[in-house]
Amino acid sequence: MADRDGLIWFDGELVPWRDAQVHVLTHTLHYGMGCFEGVRAYATDEGTAIFRLKEHTDRLFDSAKILGMSMPFDRETINEACRAAVRENGLEEAYLRPMVFFGSEGMGLRADNLKTHVIVAAWEWPSYMSPEARELGIKVQTSSFTRHHVNISVTRAKANGQYINSMMALAEAQRGGYDEALLLDPQGYAAEGSGENLFVVKNGIIYTPMLTSCLNGITRNTVLHMAEHLGLELHEKLITRDEIYIADEAFFTGTAAEVLPIRELDGRTIGEGRRGPVTEKVQSLYFDLVRGKQALDKRWLTPVA
Ligand code: PMP
Repeated sequence: MADRDGLIWFDGELVPWRDAQVHVLTHTLHYGMGCFEGVRAYATDEGTAIFRLKEHTDRLFDSAKILGMSMPFDRETINEACRAAVRENGLEEAYLRPMVFFGSEGMGLRADNLKTHVIVAAWEWPSYMSPEARELGIKVQTSSFTRHHVNISVTRAKANGQYINSMMALAEAQRGGYDEALLLDPQGYAAEGSGENLFVVKNGIIYTPMLTSCLNGITRNTVLHMAEHLGLELHEKLITRDEIYIADEAFFTGTAAEVLPIRELDGRTIGEGRRGPVTEKVQSLYFDLVRGKQALDKRWLTPVA
């Protein structure tokens, strides 16, 4: 990732990709205190545009506030940095990674001279899973790792260190031959995937876990809006793993994963074992929205030019 051409926005300036470096004593590298976003830009008929940039930047600022990190830039500057990272790298479609971290100004938990630094990188990242997975769905395993407790590692923040849990769960699932992990919350109810929110469909009604142990996903929020637009009933509720076994359909959502059908959980085929009709409607509308073919809210697309 580090050895390539391009530009990365780093503390207010676009610097050559290979020069966007930090010291080994970078505080966040040691303790994981930092926050980030995953954002996507899509090609639309009116040029490349970033999907729901404002919401991603707002969540980044919320995360920093929760973690107690003071942001050295305002929201407008970060929005402009995101646009510049895509535009100046000449990307038609892109995955963007804004990240906020403590520098190497001090070490130890008591360090009080730490500066908050911000980067925004952007690169091409076409599909999170294989392209076929969008139709055929993925195989998921309930993880032996539990998702975060609201009072242990705060779940409203998209914090760097949280992803130890995601990485261990995903690695375990992949070692077992699965594509993704389903993490349960500390009470044993379904929470989310390693980097996706969960939805299930039963008798035409969509259900998703409440915002306790899972991230307040922006794609999740987009699905809430899409369901309303499509006239589909949607409820937030506690969901058990066996409810997913007997659901008609299930799918994951996320900026990287987009709308991804789940065909199997713990060796039980879900519904027909491929993308179901409700998932297909939601997925197809999602791709129309991100590419500007339909709009539920015109403010959701920010042109980079
Ligand atoms: N849950 C987790 C743990 C995630 O990392 C992500 C990806 N940011 C999501 C859910 C989905 O969030 P979003 O739709 O905002 O990308």
